[in-house]
Amino acid sequence: MSMTKEDVLQKAEELDVKFVRLQFTDILGITKNVAITVEQLEEALEEGIMFDGSSIDGFTRIQESDMYLKPDFDTFITFPWRPETGGTVARLICDVYKPDGEPFIGGPRNVLQNVLEEAEEMGYEMYVGPEPEFFLFEQTEDGEATTITHDDGGYFDLGPVDLGQDARRDIILALDEMGFEVEASHHEVAPGQHEIDFKYEDALSTADNIATFKFVVKSIASQHGLHATFMPKPIFGENGSGMHVHQSLFEDGENVFYEEGAELGLSQTAKYYIGGLLKHAKAIAAITNPTINSYKRLVPGYEAPVYQAWSASNRSALIRIPAASGAGTRLEMRNPDPTANPYLAIAVMLKAGLDGIKNEIEPPAEVVENIYEMTAERKAELGIESLPANINQAVQELLKDETIQDALGEHVLEHFVTAKEVEWDTYRTQVHDWELDQYLSVY
Ligand code: GLN
Ligand code: MG
Ligand code: MG
Ligand code: MG
Repeated sequence: MSMTKEDVLQKAEELDVKFVRLQFTDILGITKNVAITVEQLEEALEEGIMFDGSSIDGFTRIQESDMYLKPDFDTFITFPWRPETGGTVARLICDVYKPDGEPFIGGPRNVLQNVLEEAEEMGYEMYVGPEPEFFLFEQTEDGEATTITHDDGGYFDLGPVDLGQDARRDIILALDEMGFEVEASHHEVAPGQHEIDFKYEDALSTADNIATFKFVVKSIASQHGLHATFMPKPIFGENGSGMHVHQSLFEDGENVFYEEGAELGLSQTAKYYIGGLLKHAKAIAAITNPTINSYKRLVPGYEAPVYQAWSASNRSALIRIPAASGAGTRLEMRNPDPTANPYLAIAVMLKAGLDGIKNEIEPPAEVVENIYEMTAERKAELGIESLPANINQAVQELLKDETIQDALGEHVLEHFVTAKEVEWDTYRTQVHDWELDQYLSVY
């Protein structure tokens, strides 16, 4: 499908569109919108819309602030709910351009497109399927978020256990109307926790979809008086929210991760891709697990990965190979969480995998034992290392990994690292309740 300007305008008219949200994502993964009226649409499609880049965290300095948003015509979809003012609202995802007409290297979508080009030069097209998890919490009367849930639901529970269930159904209906192919949705392990999986697509569409998905989930949840959060670990002692990322490479319409008769159906190319992911796993974590809270999830005992290993079935491993063959052959990276910028996260994983293929990085042997239960000696024997324990460690790893830095480009790297240093320092210097509980009366 390739839409033209005329197609977009015609569709907008047919669907009674009154407002168009021009959507893009900043470096820290926050999705931004500039709303225009349908009267401005034609001009926006032709020339893009100018905006002040300096008002977006990490985009530009004040003296060179003019930036353009250029809509990607193929991303035109309408939201199935109407604002009080009436008329339909549509979305167009935009690329960021400089006034001289060059793509802006600090735009995360451009970063992903660059790595996708590198893959294309090797003959590959990447497909990605995400499994975002989230919590639905009650709100106070003033609309403030809480961590209270009213449900007793557990993994795959059926029946009217949960207020969130209605909300989840409406979220899925909305996604469906927007053209998402929802493959599965279910209650997750923790109280108030849900998962909605949509069908794999090419990497760029999936990154766009993830950004839109979060907005839809939050909007519909709030219509039900609930607060949706993608924070990775909102409740101590309960499972956190991850966003497993299924990935595969195709060449001339064939899945190159599959090889008939091979062990687990995995080709040598897939093995090298795994080798690359494992080699760069620590630096990747800075991008796929970018918040302080991300690392509260990556602890033993909650189905989240802690160790750098791969396995066909073992859910304690970082990379799992789902049971599927042929076109469905893929690997599942299990550490990403939904606070990750989807464009940057997919870009760095692909970059690592391509590095594995280019440099024929052989992964270590598959691990079949439960790694959570392994002794330190056994882990050392198998060469199984741990993921970074916090965002500071992850950023230090990123600063040592030139391949991953190269994927991000200088602009994004510099801004990301600075933002994370500030975040870590702010956190590090706080006195947390836990410390008062531990030390106040004992010492
Ligand atoms: N919530 C788990 C995580 O943190 C995943 C649980 C699952 O999907 N099996 O990754
Ligand atoms: Mg799942
Ligand atoms: Mg899950
Ligand atoms: Mg999964």
